[in-house]
Amino acid sequence: MRISRITVFQIDLPLTKPYWLSGGRLKFEKIDSTFVRVDTDEGVSGWGEGCPWGHTYLPAHGHGLRAALKILAPALLGRDPRALDDINRAMDLQLPGHLYAKSPLDIACWDICGKASGNPLWRMLGAEKPAAVAVNSSISTGTPDEMIALIREASAMGYRTHSAKVGGSDFSADIERIEAISAALPKGEQVTFDVNRAWTPGVALQVLNAVSARDWVEQPCETLDQCALVAGKVPQPIMLDECLHTFQDHLDAWKRTVCQGVKVKPNRVGGLTKARQIRDFGVSVGWQMHIEDTGGSAFADTAALHLAASTPDANRLAAWLCHAHLAVDPVPGQGARNVGGLVQFGDAPGIGVTPDPSILGAPVATYGDAG
Ligand code: MG
Repeated sequence: MRISRITVFQIDLPLTKPYWLSGGRLKFEKIDSTFVRVDTDEGVSGWGEGCPWGHTYLPAHGHGLRAALKILAPALLGRDPRALDDINRAMDLQLPGHLYAKSPLDIACWDICGKASGNPLWRMLGAEKPAAVAVNSSISTGTPDEMIALIREASAMGYRTHSAKVGGSDFSADIERIEAISAALPKGEQVTFDVNRAWTPGVALQVLNAVSARDWVEQPCETLDQCALVAGKVPQPIMLDECLHTFQDHLDAWKRTVCQGVKVKPNRVGGLTKARQIRDFGVSVGWQMHIEDTGGSAFADTAALHLAASTPDANRLAAWLCHAHLAVDPVPGQGARNVGGLVQFGDAPGIGVTPDPSILGAPVATYGDAG
């Protein structure tokens, strides 16, 4: 089996309402998503989606992704898409770094492997049965009352875990938010306070040593060094997200005992092949992980949640569904959907989701056989 053609689509995904991160310094109203369809000479096709969460969240953006595809896609033509490690080595040789641009191609090759062998991805990623994956809400930064109202809305939709976005330079506002949310949290529900790298280490120490909450705190500062300075001097468990890209980053975080858990996001780390390596490492060292993608439609959510559904219960925390924030659904009704707080998987081969071509529109680029 050989890759004969790669077709690229771009779609803007508007949010149903504006969303603020990092203490309100980052605002999001729509995100730019790229879909790829990888065709083979045997008639099997696979899909992938790459969607950085806007252009302010990570060193990644939609235009950059599509520019990188101009280099990466031709290098994959004529290769066997089932040889996933070779596919990834070919991309790394052709273009070092730029992990987020490699992710949709890698994911499309996983889709082909699954379809060609009749297996859903959760099985290829190691599970005998798929776990029911608990979903977590994502609570935009606001006043304590606004954030508590959003948590109550999410609770009514079945969410039992919440990611409350805090952060900023006014540390007293964050102490107030954290204490108010902790006190108001419905019984049996959990919250992670996600700082999205907004604090300096000094502010992190002030806030985290002042509050009585002992919940997870995520990405308190910008860099691994800064987070390392905070870890061990605060009583809360630390989760890392934005500062981890390569496997080496994860290894460094573990060696330096910076965190007890990580977010594993295929688009941030370069696709499912690399995300699986990190997931398996995390299981080996006893990390607790949120496994989800950086952004995108229910397609991206589903691809990432196959990895979550194949991860042992003890190492799997909840997963976020980006598509729950979107006003457009390019894979109408398909894939990972929240039903009473859980996502359940069936037996459909591959990712099990096919984008609707009428929603994606005309391709923006085609590489290889013009068909
Ligand atoms: Mg985060």
